[in-house]
Amino acid sequence: MKFETKAIWVGQEADKATGATVVPIYQTSTFTQEELNKNKGYEYSRIGNPTRNALEVCLASLEEGKYGLSFSSGLAAEHAILFSLLRPGDHIIAPEDMYGGTYRLIKEVIEPFNIDYSLIDFTNLELIKQTFRPSTKMVWIETPTNPTLKIFDIAAISEISRRRNAISVVDNTFMSPHFQKPLTLGTDIVVHSSTKYINGHSDVIGGAVILNDDELYKKIRFVQKTVGAVPSPFDAWLTLRGLKTLAIRMERHEKNAMIIARFLETHPNVEKVFYPGLETHQGYELAKKQMTGFGGIVSFMIRGGKNEANEFFKKLKIFQLADSLGGVESLVNYSAIMSHSSFPIDLRNKIGVTDNFIRISVGIENHEDLIEDIKNALDGI
Ligand SMILES: *Cc1c(COP(=O)(O)O)cnc(C)c1O
Repeated sequence: MKFETKAIWVGQEADKATGATVVPIYQTSTFTQEELNKNKGYEYSRIGNPTRNALEVCLASLEEGKYGLSFSSGLAAEHAILFSLLRPGDHIIAPEDMYGGTYRLIKEVIEPFNIDYSLIDFTNLELIKQTFRPSTKMVWIETPTNPTLKIFDIAAISEISRRRNAISVVDNTFMSPHFQKPLTLGTDIVVHSSTKYINGHSDVIGGAVILNDDELYKKIRFVQKTVGAVPSPFDAWLTLRGLKTLAIRMERHEKNAMIIARFLETHPNVEKVFYPGLETHQGYELAKKQMTGFGGIVSFMIRGGKNEANEFFKKLKIFQLADSLGGVESLVNYSAIMSHSSFPIDLRNKIGVTDNFIRISVGIENHEDLIEDIKNALDGI
């Protein structure tokens, strides 16, 4: 089956008990056993639940992986990976550009367990090689990065990691499996904030891990069921429903994003535009190679600073000033004090998240309405 068909059918055959065509919400904490050691495959919903299972099977299939695991948030998924696979004394290499919450997780929650990390420029493959230590166990990749949209070479970095016996992880939240499949490029583990494109409707917090390796799977699965940071049956169901339309949503997000990126480039109150689909973008060639689309996030620098950014936000009518991204509704975000508030100011400036930096999550509304809204707001500054 092809991607669009898998999204609708894999893990979602008609319900065995009732014939329900759509996977039911099994809103139950426990499952009755016929006698000791005899059950229908489920015992207790922290360990497993049929609605969650359907989501996990479908996600694995869309990423072309063997195993899928879902979590109650993207960060819970990241935490399960880090906590199950690393031990005191280990070292992680990660890009200095990455989602602020991941940075905070590594720095404030993981490092105190005596797990060291190096944050470096991932566009420099030589630097990545030089940063390896005997204790390096994991290389954390995020591409395109949140919010500067830098593109890193997944195949090359995964290969560098494999040669040095380190586990490679890709945060694939921005592209979703529709536009990028890291496991097919040699990565060991894919992680998602399914809060974003996978669910796609800004109404669920969730995360996912997809992988092929049996041993790594056993360790992460053990932490998932032992800690229990799992989605509720209803959240799993909403995510599965969102997932069915992932392909058509991503295509519209991308179409609208390209139109908006091109428009922003022409506006006198815009200093610089970041979108992987622009020929001028840092990673344009690499993006064309490892992605099958450019996604729905566009960032830009407004002429001015925080005051001009705030004027722009206040004048917008359709775009909402809010955290998060990847939903059908268009949002704007002021990264410096929203998504990247946990970054120290010097690192934030170094990666380019300056006081005039704005991230747009382009929704799937009519593009003429979106352009008009942005134009009015920019013209009015
Ligand atoms: C939002 C986000 C996360 C965190 O996911 P939550 O679901 O908010 O816990 C991780 N990585 C990226 C790239 C994100 O955008």
